[in-house]
Amino acid sequence: MEKIKMTTPLVEMDGDEMTRILWAIIKEELLLPFIDLNTEYYDLGLIHRNDTDDQVTIAAAQAAKKYGVAVKCATITPNHARMSEYDLKKMYKSPNGTIRAILDGTVFRAPIVVKGIEPCVRNWKKPITIARHAYGDIYKNTELSIEKPGKVELVYTAENGEETRALIQEYEQPGIAMGMHNMQASIESFARSCFNYALDTKQDIWFGAKDTISKTYDAEFKRVFQEIFEKEFKEKFEQAGITYFYSLIDDIVARVMKAEGGFIWACKNYDGDVMSDMVSSAFGSLAMMTSVLVSPDGYYEYEAAHGTVQRHYYRHLKGEETSTNSVATIFAWTGALRKRGEFDGNPELMKFADKLEKATVDVIESGKMTKDLALITSLENPVVLNSREFITAIREKLEKLL
Ligand code: NAP
Ligand code: MG
Repeated sequence: MEKIKMTTPLVEMDGDEMTRILWAIIKEELLLPFIDLNTEYYDLGLIHRNDTDDQVTIAAAQAAKKYGVAVKCATITPNHARMSEYDLKKMYKSPNGTIRAILDGTVFRAPIVVKGIEPCVRNWKKPITIARHAYGDIYKNTELSIEKPGKVELVYTAENGEETRALIQEYEQPGIAMGMHNMQASIESFARSCFNYALDTKQDIWFGAKDTISKTYDAEFKRVFQEIFEKEFKEKFEQAGITYFYSLIDDIVARVMKAEGGFIWACKNYDGDVMSDMVSSAFGSLAMMTSVLVSPDGYYEYEAAHGTVQRHYYRHLKGEETSTNSVATIFAWTGALRKRGEFDGNPELMKFADKLEKATVDVIESGKMTKDLALITSLENPVVLNSREFITAIREKLEKLL
């Protein structure tokens, strides 16, 4: 078979630990034999980030802007333990945080649904995608602990010195207070990313906030979504046969539990943090969850939702066998290749991505899987494969499909 050609490079961001090992095997077994892989390679492994004073992360994010599509391996976010483990010059920020700050946008997380790994919510038949706003609210808040009687006010000082004040609370006894904010531009880009992603994936989009209680703050989210929808997306949604639906967050939660899935759930930052963990664990496993950052300018960065699987890596280093699930990392590649194909008008590449996903799902549904899935599958007598065997099994299936 002739290898599939790529006209534009895909930005490849390599990473750390066990996922770096899987990354190399995926390329060797599932990509390079079939594609003339055209990537611009950035090594975001912690050693190279340290060597370049983290400049490589910035360069990689800029390349994602230049070419429009990136695929990223999981990376270590340094903490104190990593400082000594890797002899770091400083405690670098999370690469995902750095990339998000450069690309802006919204993170979409969707479970990979396969037969035999059943969601614990019985009526969920199709994936539920969480779209999480990634800026502001309590993640950029200011808090006060009030020790003595007094009052707390919100004060806005305009550039000309004019003040607007609002009383938060008169305290007769000790208490707590918090101030938080968001930006209209960020809410707008959140809304646009959500609507574009809904069109892209042909799924309805639901958004929930608490505008009955938060009549200015949450009401602004509701207003911005509605306005952008009416002005820019309504007709496109009608043509695509999909809908936008707003309701109170508690009503949305109740509807989600009764729904069968197959839609996008847009969440404010905190709601998205909490609800994505609920949805992913209810669907079975973090190792079966894909994640894509969609910027308001239409750049895409694909990755797995899980981390570097450190515990498995240490076992691997000791020469012990590992059974690490590579599905989310494979789907990060297929997502990126399909999007590259779409941008470049390269249907061969898009078809390849579909087939690689099908091969992966088929292998699991035939009862061959990694240990994490074997522990939760409803299939009888699953065959547990090690990290490499699982990828090899996918290659065998893929060769039959191509
Ligand atoms: P983790 O890598 O997601 O792994 C936590 C545990 O979940 C693993 O020990 C394993 O459980 C299970 N697991 C996760 N992914 C798996 C897979 N693909 N196959 C099988 N089991 C899997 O989280 P962590 O150990 O808390 O973090 C490790 C490093 O990853 C940290 O340095 C963190 O900074 C980084 N991280 C990076 C990202 C990212 O780049 N997006 C995200 C999160 C964390 P068992 O050990 O029980 O088998
Ligand atoms: Mg969280």
